[in-house]
Amino acid sequence: MAKKNSLIRPLVSDLHPYVPGEQPKIKGLIKLNTNENPYPPSPKVLAAVRGAVDGRLRLYPNPTAEKLRVRLAKLHGCQPENIIVGNGSDELLALAVRAFVEPVSEGRVPRAPNQNISGIRGTRPSEMVQYFTPSYSLYPVLADIHGAAKNAVPLNPDFSLPGVPELKRGGQWRFDAGLTLVTTPNAPSGHGYQTVELEKLCRAQTGVVVLDEAYVDFAGVNALKLALKFPHVLVARTFSKAYSLCFQRVGYFVGHAELIAALDKIRDSYNVNGLGQIAAEATLADLKFYRANFQKIISTRAWLTRELTLLGFRVLPSQTNFILTKPPLFPAQAWLEQLRDRKILVRWFSAPEVKDYLRITIGTPAAAAALVKAARKILTSA
Ligand SMILES: *Cc1c(COP(=O)(O)O)cnc(C)c1O
Repeated sequence: MAKKNSLIRPLVSDLHPYVPGEQPKIKGLIKLNTNENPYPPSPKVLAAVRGAVDGRLRLYPNPTAEKLRVRLAKLHGCQPENIIVGNGSDELLALAVRAFVEPVSEGRVPRAPNQNISGIRGTRPSEMVQYFTPSYSLYPVLADIHGAAKNAVPLNPDFSLPGVPELKRGGQWRFDAGLTLVTTPNAPSGHGYQTVELEKLCRAQTGVVVLDEAYVDFAGVNALKLALKFPHVLVARTFSKAYSLCFQRVGYFVGHAELIAALDKIRDSYNVNGLGQIAAEATLADLKFYRANFQKIISTRAWLTRELTLLGFRVLPSQTNFILTKPPLFPAQAWLEQLRDRKILVRWFSAPEVKDYLRITIGTPAAAAALVKAARKILTSA
């Protein structure tokens, strides 16, 4: 146990922070661990960013990302009031917890890091951040940071979404939770959800629902219309994954003007950096370039799924730019190490529902071929 430092709030001393995927600087490393896009941004985006690097860097950027919000509103058929831009969608997820969930009042609930405290008597639904497991591993950390209760409810064993009647029967799900976060398509399973099933879930919830569509451009469907239809539903999008802009940190929420205004009140005044705004605007002016990349990634996904299946991997169907796969012969963690030895970095999560799987980002066709070749070598030398 770390020594308690009385200068720091117990909540912070006890916090288990989010663990991002590694960003090692190893020469020749094939990096398939953080779902980054293998293709660089459009040349027009690079030119726009370069063109903005001059004396204007001394100025504050537009505080509300006005031009970007106007462009996004046009793209999604809504008003700029329905859009808030964040320093990545991670920032907006944190703001949603702060805006829509009460911290558990002091001393009422015994705190233990990363404990699911929904079952503890006295937790009020307004104090609850709810999500399915497995899903984005940032959600529990955001709840912990805020001192909110967590309600982590298992997905079906095949990672499909439990229906409303099943959730009612299960008894753990709260239809009155202050905030429900749904990763759709899901990470790390890659499983896609139909908009009709999400709509049924949204209809049944009385608190705020965020549909986190970080990977939606690699899927066949999206649920954006639900954010424009229901006053309590927000859709989260990001420029990071599909639009090759992780480095710039730009994400946004779409939803009812009242929810958006609440988030807007509590964000930092200049939360989105100027170069990020420029890069995102230029991205929206060149969507054709990106749609071609989505197609490349989707066909590499199909190729990799086929090849790994032939080698004895169980590959779950994916609607994202990664696959979740159960490798043959050795435990997944051993595969992680063996692939690392061959300079291929993938992701492994210790959570019980996924510890038998590897999550592999879809890279270029060459990266996918290198992965298959390495897997074949590992199997033959076993
Ligand atoms: C990557 C990711 C995000 C965060 O994206 P940023 O915009 O880079 O902060 C949000 N949700 C999920 C599920 C993600 O995988």
